[in-house]
Amino acid sequence: MSAVSGHCLCGAVRLTVRTLSDEISACHCEMCRRWSGGIQMGIEAAEADVRVTGPVKIFRSSHLAERAWCDTCGSALWLRDVVGPNQGLYELVPGLFDNAAGARLVREVYADCAPSGYALAGDHRRVSKAEYEMTHPFVHEGEVR
Ligand SMILES: [Zn+2]
Ligand SMILES: [Zn+2]
Repeated sequence: MSAVSGHCLCGAVRLTVRTLSDEISACHCEMCRRWSGGIQMGIEAAEADVRVTGPVKIFRSSHLAERAWCDTCGSALWLRDVVGPNQGLYELVPGLFDNAAGARLVREVYADCAPSGYALAGDHRRVSKAEYEMTHPFVHEGEVR
């Protein structure tokens, strides 16, 4: 697979990803709802495969992860684990890439935490808060509230 390029709304931040997953995950947890304004979506990429240029700002949203955006236009860029088993792994927002780089929605986590007024259609996997936190017990330690 050839490298995929993406950019924020204003074009100040540019990314090149050597190997990008073709799978999208969506999250409805409280942090993702507040930060994204609704549904946070991500496409995984290994740290070594991502090149970024431009005015990136980073917020450490929990002991585990950081969230990044363009300092010029405010576009969301990624959620990334900074400690733990997936340290360095990017979850890049699909909107950075034309047609979400062809990736498709495969998983919706905290599915039971979504607002009652909308839902993602399709036959992707849906994981509840309880189910997710059972397999990811480290997620909510020291979370910013
Ligand atoms: Zn921008
Ligand atoms: Zn989340």
